[in-house]
Amino acid sequence: MSDIGFAFEIGGRTIDPSNVEDPVEAEVIANIVESIVSQAGDLVCPEHNEAPRFLCAGESIDSLTLEVEGCCDAMVDKVKAQISLQQQ
Ligand SMILES: [Zn+2]
Repeated sequence: MSDIGFAFEIGGRTIDPSNVEDPVEAEVIANIVESIVSQAGDLVCPEHNEAPRFLCAGESIDSLTLEVEGCCDAMVDKVKAQISLQQQ
């Protein structure tokens, strides 16, 4: 497991991806985490040696958008270029 970080906020609730009570949300979140890790799990900023962080937020589990946070703009751009979440 890499040290990339995840944060989930659904309808204003902060959700711990490793401890999701709702089984439907748990599955969606697990899929998102798996998708991101498989695409960007080994990305580390060559300049700052920092892994990116991902914030998934939305009004509901069906309308999450992904934001990338990183140590610098170059890293954020690199991560964004690398990942594509299948969003409706
Ligand atoms: Zn950097």
